[in-house]
Amino acid sequence: MNDSILIIGAGIAGINAALNAAKYGAKVYLLDDTASIGGMMARLDKTFPTNDCSICIEAPQMYEVDNHPNIEILTNTEVRKVKKTEGGFNVRLVQKARFIDPEKCTGCGACIEACPVSILDEMDGKISGMRKLVYMPFPQAVPNIAVIDPDCRYGNMREQGACVGGCVVDCSQCRECPIALCVKACIEEGKDAVRLWQANKNLKLNVKSIIVAAGITDAKPPAGLHGYDVFDNVITYVQFERLMNAGGPTAGQIIRPSDQKHAHKIAWIQCAGRGLDHGVPYCSKVCCMVAAKQTIITKEHDSSVETSIFYNDLKAYGKGFWGFYQKAVENGVRYVRARPYDVFEDPESKNLTIRYEDLDSGKIMEEEVEILVLSTGLVPGDRNERLAKALKIELDRFGYFKEKNPLTAPLETKVDGIYLCGGATGPIDISESVVQASAASMKAVLH
Ligand SMILES: Cc1cc2nc3c(=O)[nH]c(=O)nc-3n(C[C@H](O)[C@H](O)[C@H](O)COP(=O)(O)OP(=O)(O)OC[C@H]3O[C@@H](n4cnc5c(N)ncnc54)[C@H](O)[C@@H]3O)c2cc1C
Repeated sequence: MNDSILIIGAGIAGINAALNAAKYGAKVYLLDDTASIGGMMARLDKTFPTNDCSICIEAPQMYEVDNHPNIEILTNTEVRKVKKTEGGFNVRLVQKARFIDPEKCTGCGACIEACPVSILDEMDGKISGMRKLVYMPFPQAVPNIAVIDPDCRYGNMREQGACVGGCVVDCSQCRECPIALCVKACIEEGKDAVRLWQANKNLKLNVKSIIVAAGITDAKPPAGLHGYDVFDNVITYVQFERLMNAGGPTAGQIIRPSDQKHAHKIAWIQCAGRGLDHGVPYCSKVCCMVAAKQTIITKEHDSSVETSIFYNDLKAYGKGFWGFYQKAVENGVRYVRARPYDVFEDPESKNLTIRYEDLDSGKIMEEEVEILVLSTGLVPGDRNERLAKALKIELDRFGYFKEKNPLTAPLETKVDGIYLCGGATGPIDISESVVQASAASMKAVLH
């Protein structure tokens, strides 16, 4: 009897579903289309409501998954086609080339050191995060294997100084590159793991059930929202989270993108963009606690920093959340019930003035800050539509995966044998994601 399960998405929900199903004897394929498992939690600093270090909690689970005899991790892998059969599902996958031999790479980093080109990191670019063309997704990545930017491999980065120099041949035409510095460095380490000619791989699986744990992402503010992408010191709440993080691009220094100086006055605008055409049209549940966390941690770094949260409604729905909000207030965080409507920048100091309506007094007020953080909310993953099509399951009107019946059949879909958990179902925090992962994995095991 086929007792294998495919889990799509390897954030904290997918990881917990995998560990749980594997404990019950299932063979688990844990798939992610990025180069490492971990999802959003691997990029966070600390986690509300306990303020425990996020990666310190998640990394041991990532290593457990990696070393579990019943779990096979498939990173850089996309689901292409799914066909329902008598006993389960036939699944066609594509594993995108990393241009590194996973059997030979030990994650030593010699290739990364040798690479001469740094570019802005996708997640941390606005706050000075850089990465090489060959890179590790983050320090605790699992698998601990480097990945080469496909743009470099296809020779598209020559103008930016990629080490192929004057070479005019597409790398795929040459099996052994005599120029590439990453190749040379790896050979010098005695590993010879760089494979510039590696091709994508087609894979086939036969599984009895599937769990979708494809998660959430943060809403990207459109250029101009409260000065975002116009003024250097307006950043998103994810960028602020990375700024606080000791493993982030500034090693935990809360400094301004404009001049790298420590900020002493910081404000958060909650529900940023809400009510506008491009704003998130629902409550993302976690942002109030994220802002409380970020202000508490900011004050732990330096208690003299002034922090203000401009909010409309306050959501503290979970266990310990109200106490967490109160902790922020006790720490001197200023909560202002307000409707901010304009932000402008002093061209010299690069400070920002927020003009807002104070909702308690009805007065128009102004406040000058050094960093402005936009809490933009959570949105569905941008690959959900394609995945839903392949799985023949439905999305709700916002783009999250639709449950068969949220009251009587939560975490189930209209296709028998396909289940959901975590941010795939909608905005959610970590503990709820873990609870859902346990439930979905039990449904998948018992199917
Ligand atoms: C700034 C910020 C701070 C936060 N702080 C906290 C906090 O302190 N405490 C707390 O409880 N919660 C916090 N959260 C919420 C928390 O991040 C989520 O609850 C959690 O990440 C949800 O886990 P998940 O596994 O469902 O999704 P994710 O973490 O999003 O993981 C989903 C995974 O699926 C992969 N994936 C997506 N689509 C596909 C596809 N089609 N094919 C293959 N793989 C796919 C992604 O690459 C990703 O690895 C915060 C969120 C943000 C934005």
